[in-house]
Amino acid sequence: PRPQDALQNASPMMAQYLEIKRQHQDHLLFYRMGDFYELFFEDAVQAAAALDITLTRRGQHAGEDIPMAGVPVHSHEQYLLRLIRAGFRVAICEQTEDPAEAKKRGSKSVVRREVIRVVTPGTITEDGLLDARSNNYLAALAEAAGETGLAWLDLSTGELTVQPIERAGLPAAVARLAPGELLIPERLAQVPELFELWGEWKKRLTVQPNARFDSENGRKRLLALYGVGTLDAFGTFTRAEVAAAGALVDYVELTQKGRLPRLDPPRRVAAGQVMEIDPATRRNLELTRTMAGERKGTLLAAVDRTVTGAGARLLAAQLSAPLTDPRRIDKRLDMLAFFVGEEALRLDVREELKRTPDVERALSRLTLGRGSPRDLCCVRDALERAASLRLKLTPQGHLSPLPDGLNGVARDLTGGSGHSHEDLVQLLSRALGPDLPLLARDGGFIAAGFDPVLDELRALRDDSRRHIANLQAKYAELTGISGLKVKHNNVLGYFLEVTATHADKLLGEKYRSVFIHRQTMAGAVRFTTVELSDLERRVAEAGDKALALELEHFEKLVQGTCAVAEPIATSARALAALDVVSSLADLAVDRGWCRPVVEDSLAFDLRGGRHPVVEQALEEAGGGPFVANDCDLSAEQRLWLLTGPNMAGKSTFLRQNALIAVLAQMGSFVPAKSARLGVVDKLFSRVGAADDLARGRSTFMVEMVETASILNQATPRSLVILDEIGRGTATFDGLSIAWACVEHLHETARCRGLFATHYHELTLLASKLPHLSCHTMRIKEWQGDVVFLHEVAAGTADRSYGIHVARLAGLPAPVVARAEQVLELLEKGEQGSAVARLAEDLPLFSAAIRRTPEPKAAPAPAAGPSPVEEALKGINPDELTPKQALEELYRLRGML
Ligand code: ADP
Repeated sequence: PRPQDALQNASPMMAQYLEIKRQHQDHLLFYRMGDFYELFFEDAVQAAAALDITLTRRGQHAGEDIPMAGVPVHSHEQYLLRLIRAGFRVAICEQTEDPAEAKKRGSKSVVRREVIRVVTPGTITEDGLLDARSNNYLAALAEAAGETGLAWLDLSTGELTVQPIERAGLPAAVARLAPGELLIPERLAQVPELFELWGEWKKRLTVQPNARFDSENGRKRLLALYGVGTLDAFGTFTRAEVAAAGALVDYVELTQKGRLPRLDPPRRVAAGQVMEIDPATRRNLELTRTMAGERKGTLLAAVDRTVTGAGARLLAAQLSAPLTDPRRIDKRLDMLAFFVGEEALRLDVREELKRTPDVERALSRLTLGRGSPRDLCCVRDALERAASLRLKLTPQGHLSPLPDGLNGVARDLTGGSGHSHEDLVQLLSRALGPDLPLLARDGGFIAAGFDPVLDELRALRDDSRRHIANLQAKYAELTGISGLKVKHNNVLGYFLEVTATHADKLLGEKYRSVFIHRQTMAGAVRFTTVELSDLERRVAEAGDKALALELEHFEKLVQGTCAVAEPIATSARALAALDVVSSLADLAVDRGWCRPVVEDSLAFDLRGGRHPVVEQALEEAGGGPFVANDCDLSAEQRLWLLTGPNMAGKSTFLRQNALIAVLAQMGSFVPAKSARLGVVDKLFSRVGAADDLARGRSTFMVEMVETASILNQATPRSLVILDEIGRGTATFDGLSIAWACVEHLHETARCRGLFATHYHELTLLASKLPHLSCHTMRIKEWQGDVVFLHEVAAGTADRSYGIHVARLAGLPAPVVARAEQVLELLEKGEQGSAVARLAEDLPLFSAAIRRTPEPKAAPAPAAGPSPVEEALKGINPDELTPKQALEELYRLRGML
């Protein structure tokens, strides 16, 4: 039976529980009982399984045991985190009155409880639950008027951003954000073409009723939130964007039970403002996660030298969304260049940043009413640091003038133009004591000297405590019992304790009027006196008053801080920006990177480019030096075909060029001697399925789907990196697909691109396609061995060295020898004029001949054409139906 069915028979507490649970059916309900959050019924079963905690029972309901599980309040955060990670949403239900109050209403009445918050993956603000170095976005998707809008916010920083988007671009955009939680309307959840996307984000998906994504309601909600009459002041938004942003705000209100954090006005990312990088490309280039899902080994890890959490988050965001406007890119590069030139200042700035706490997150907790004295302290320290950083940046004494961008950052450090945080910093400095508790209600955080009334109450309390301590000596002397002790516990408060042997003396006639019996224990007896309880009352009263006063001050300080939340957020952003540019400058100097020229052209000219991650890995492993390579994809040769054996460095070269484009457009220096790049609008990278086995899907199908998406989406501004596309299937298929892809990229997409392949036949295309140029990884043969030089050179590889690898792998010597024989035959055959001619007309068939690995049937290096060749000549493909062609093929094959 559903627990709801039997409400009328429930105990008062169970009735309360069931009523609250009814309103939170999709959430696990953490029901506060004393020092525990308890879960009941199905919630308990699920949580016990997910957390591996004991499932017990508590009483009965509707004739059955009630399953129960609980987590202690003081350590509940870790449990919460695990539940959230496992895909649960948790409603936190607190006692909202003192149990004593409830008792006053009658012995049967239950303590009032309320859900004060619903914890979901996108709405976490606790430091303990968040990764300090990455953003946790709450995102929403909405459709209206035939358009799609994406909105996202980071509750812990207050940033709200919207973006128009096409359905085809959704996977890329969602992958870029990697939101902690994605809200979608039921309607979108049912769109079949998006099923795969939803499947991928399943644990983070929150499906909401369509009504919550209504654009008109969204507009009203935003107007109310910002207290404006029109949204025009913030920019022009589509209905879909407004609907998405409105849904976000609505959801935050819902989960925070009406408490809204400070939110920036919505910022709009216009279409095309950031480099589009789809999920497969992100995975493949290992921008922020490796294929195995780790951070180590990624581009981000290789470039991240930030020293603050906010800096790390901003860096990750910038790296995930490289810009496309050369002016904005240049602005960032100018700042970097400045710090590259100003070594002393840079080091100084970075030292200061290291000591700067994470003010963004502290601020958001304060605005959400979840702040603590430590958060106030964090605000104070960060603002103090920011002011001192601003002083360091003021131009006097610098070798070069401060670039525009840094002028702005300097101004923002103290809260934006005309603002100063000095008053707040001073107030907080005076108010906060040296030892700060985790929770305001523990008290003791307001500094001595801040409030005379508070000082007096504390003195009174301490005075009385001293008196109490003195009582021990006094009563010991009075009674002659030297072992008499003053003690304290939570049940009795203060009391006097003597061993049982002395108890009779105090219970006797002489002292009966002084010592009042409280408790008899095994071996000890406890007493109190009028004086002691008087003093105790005074301690308690003074303590209560002091705490109440402290809490009052705390509220005021929080209010004072929240009143300037806007400028504090501005300072926080400036601190993060400063961390990012100075850390990237540090990296550039340290690793000898150069400033790229990013322009509106279609250039792509890298001299001496290196792979930032592989280079570092080689160094760490103590391997040989990384070999730098040029890459020039100018108009005459915008598509490179790269051949070379396995392990020669093809993939490394391909990826390094893509990574350099990402770095340049995010506004970083790049690992190269020089770099001139025309802005890349979309970046695509794919690896042939054989390399992608780990993903365990029908790999060839995946590869083809992904390749199709490139061919459909690439523009002349795009950069496409294809690594051994087509190798996931039989040779014929693979070669023909690769062949057609190269043709399409060259003729239709007309993008810049690099195409690494095993199929040497493809190099024949170079004579047909004017912008295709062939390159190969250089190899040196030395004493019968092969040495990889890791150098990219013009031309084509003459051999694939597969046999060499086979020998290394321990294939029996006779097999290797035979393979060499066969290869020789095949190669001679290819050089024959007839085969070359065939290659021009019917490239696929040339592959057929070359790849047929039947030694006996291998075309002899005959002088004249073979019977098969003769027969082929007699065929006119234009006159054949596909079926006839197939029959011809069987016939030809039969002649071998
Ligand atoms: P391929 O794609 O041709 O099979 P990879 O790009 O995977 O080859 O490179 C194989 C290994 O060679 C890399 O792991 C790296 O250690 C080394 N390597 C690649 N490129 C270079 C280079 N430019 N300089 C030095 N070592 C390199």
